[in-house]
Amino acid sequence: MFHRKDTRPVRVGDITIGGSNEVIMQSMCTTKTADVKATVAEILRLEEAGCQIVRVTVNNAEAAEAIKEIKKQIHIPLVSDIHFDHRLALAAIKNGIDKVRINPGNIGKRERVEEVVRACKERGVPIRIGVNVGSLEKHLIDKYGYPTPEAMVESALYHIGILEELDFHDIIVSLKASDVPMAIAAYSQAAEAFNYPLHLGITEAGTLFSGAVKSAAGLGVLLNMGIGSTMRISLSADPVEEIKVARELLKSFGLITNAATLVSCPTCGRLDFDLFPVANEIEEYLAKIKAPIRVSVLGCAVNGPGEARESDIGIAGGRGEGLLFRHGEVVRKVPQEQLVGALKEEIDKLVREYEET
Ligand code: SF4
Repeated sequence: MFHRKDTRPVRVGDITIGGSNEVIMQSMCTTKTADVKATVAEILRLEEAGCQIVRVTVNNAEAAEAIKEIKKQIHIPLVSDIHFDHRLALAAIKNGIDKVRINPGNIGKRERVEEVVRACKERGVPIRIGVNVGSLEKHLIDKYGYPTPEAMVESALYHIGILEELDFHDIIVSLKASDVPMAIAAYSQAAEAFNYPLHLGITEAGTLFSGAVKSAAGLGVLLNMGIGSTMRISLSADPVEEIKVARELLKSFGLITNAATLVSCPTCGRLDFDLFPVANEIEEYLAKIKAPIRVSVLGCAVNGPGEARESDIGIAGGRGEGLLFRHGEVVRKVPQEQLVGALKEEIDKLVREYEET
C-alpha cells in the first residue's frame, strides 16, 4: 500500500520520513511561536485532527526560546522554520527541535554552516532544504533567464552539495511553486536527480476551496507516481483544514491505513429524504475514526443498495427513511430522523470489532 519511490529514510523525532513508510501529514502553526499557550493549543488541535509533524516559525530569539516549553506540552515532532540566521537554528536545536528547515546556502560563511551541521549531527536533527520558486538564487535566474523546474532542482542540488560535503545526509527537500505544472515538473525531476525524501507542497495555493483543489491537482499527480514522502497542504485557512484535505487526498490514493472513508451520492430528482445533513454529519464523525472502514450514504434504491453493499456500512434512502446495510446485508429500515444515530451506532460497533482483531 505504501509503495513509494525509493528514498533514503530520515528520522524526525520518533517518525521516519521516506523509505517505504507512509506519507506523513504536516502543517504549520499560524500563531506567534513565542506565545507558548496559543501555539500549544493550536498544535493540540492539529494533533487531534491527525497532524503527524508540525512546523513553527523561529524568526527571533523569543521564538527559539519557546521551543523548550512547547516541546514539553505536545506529542508530535516539532520543526523550526528558519531563514538566514544560523544563531536561531543553533538555539532551536539546543532547545530540542526535531528538524530544522533552513537552506545552508543562505546561512553565509562556511563556519556557520559547519556549526549548524555539527549541532544537527550531535542531536540527530535532520535538515529540510526548502527551495521556493520565488526565492531562487540570483546565479540560477541569470543562468535560466526566469524560474524553471530545472533551476529549482539545481538550487536543491546546490544546497544538498553543501551538506554532503560536510558528510551530512539526514536531508529532506521541498521544491515549492504556486504554479501546479511547474511544481509537478520540479518534483518529478528531483525524484530522478537524488534519493532524499521529498516534502510535497504547492505554495501559496489559496483559500480553503481553491487551495484544496490546486493542491489536490498537483500533489495527486505526484502521489500517484509514487513521489513524495511527506506533505503539507498550504491554505489561507485554519491549519486543521490543511490536515483534513491532506488526509482526504491520501485516502484517495489508498495511502493511509487508519482512516475511514465516506461514499455519498450527489443526489437527484429520485431523492426522497434529506441526504446532505446526514452525509455532512457522518463525514464529521468519521474524521475522528482511526479504522479503515467505508461508509456509504446513498439517496435511493437505484444505485443505493448496490453501493451500500460494497461498503462496510451504508444506507440507501427511501421515502422519509433508509435501509441500513452492514457488509452487504440489510440490517433494518430506519426512519430519517434516526438515520444519523443508527449509522453512528453501527460505525462504533465496527470500529470496536476492528480494534479487537
Ligand atoms: Fe440519484 Fe439515487 Fe443516484 Fe443518489 S443514488 S444520485 S438519489 S439515483
